[in-house]
Amino acid sequence: MRLTFTRRGVFTALFAGLATLIGAPRAVSAAGPRTVRLQKWSCTNQDCDPYIYDPSVGDININDEDNPIPPGIAFEDLPDDWVCHVCGDPKSHFLPTGEWVEVVVSG
Ligand SMILES: [Zn+2]
Repeated sequence: MRLTFTRRGVFTALFAGLATLIGAPRAVSAAGPRTVRLQKWSCTNQDCDPYIYDPSVGDININDEDNPIPPGIAFEDLPDDWVCHVCGDPKSHFLPTGEWVEVVVSG
């Protein structure tokens, strides 16, 4: 009997420890700012300067100027109808530059 109670106590402690381990990081990332590493993308239109989408800056979003793209949005996560605000070319005319930026975003 004594052994059984001891084992149960150990298991309970283990589960409590696991719950703390699993739960704690989520709570931290949801509450505080975090740093994400995102790539810059360049417009390939010859007439463009070129415009480079910089995730640390965001974009004015000419399709919906009341809702500009905030810093910290990956190019891949831009709306499908997003276009280059200089020449109007779609996302498919952009290529990754190979240059990465680190952006601090709030949780
Ligand atoms: Zn362009």
